[in-house]
Amino acid sequence: MNNRTKPLFLVMSAPSGCGKSTLIDMLLQEYHDLVYSISCTTRAPRGEEEDGLDYHFLAKQRFEELIGENAFIEYAKVHDNYYGTLKAPIEEVLAEGNSMVLDIDVQGAAKVREYVRSLPNNDPLKIGYVDIFILPPSMEELRRRLEGRGTDSREVIERRMANAEGEIARADEYMFKVTNDDLGVAYKRLCDLIDAMSGRM
Ligand code: 5GP
Repeated sequence: MNNRTKPLFLVMSAPSGCGKSTLIDMLLQEYHDLVYSISCTTRAPRGEEEDGLDYHFLAKQRFEELIGENAFIEYAKVHDNYYGTLKAPIEEVLAEGNSMVLDIDVQGAAKVREYVRSLPNNDPLKIGYVDIFILPPSMEELRRRLEGRGTDSREVIERRMANAEGEIARADEYMFKVTNDDLGVAYKRLCDLIDAMSGRM
């Protein structure tokens, strides 16, 4: 993507274990005008997490002020903590001619889609909007990958599998679906989609 191409507002979702983070990291390394959207949250930082890098860590009161100001394109309360995506950074990135990528779950993506639908046709967020769902090759392979990580308890794996089924059931809401069978093939397909949608040769 460069100045002669259309800035994209790219929304990506996938069940846990489908390689979405890896694919997004690969895209960010290749497309230097692609900016990763950093969410806001009221939960405390964990481990090595850094403010402004992993999340914008906000006090609950500040988050609620921002809700009141209609500053979020979408937000959700998860286990007593708020999570949300600010509108302003997306608008700024697109206005500069760059593209923004959101890594967001199916419910968040549905809210973003609804918001984009409400915008006038000449709004850059609507013009550049693309959403992509990353699919596992099969449920058996997804289970194998989750178990292969060796980090999660049986209970966590079962919960992820159940969540994955619910998310995959909504994959048709997305403009494009990419199956991550082979990482290189899935990445190539993603690049082709992005190049086509942004008008890059
Ligand atoms: P964690 O606390 O483990 O980083 O994230 C908990 C949950 O919050 C995950 O399911 C994650 O997808 C979700 N989440 C992270 N950022 C956002 C966001 O900007 N909006 C919404 N709706 N959910 C988010």
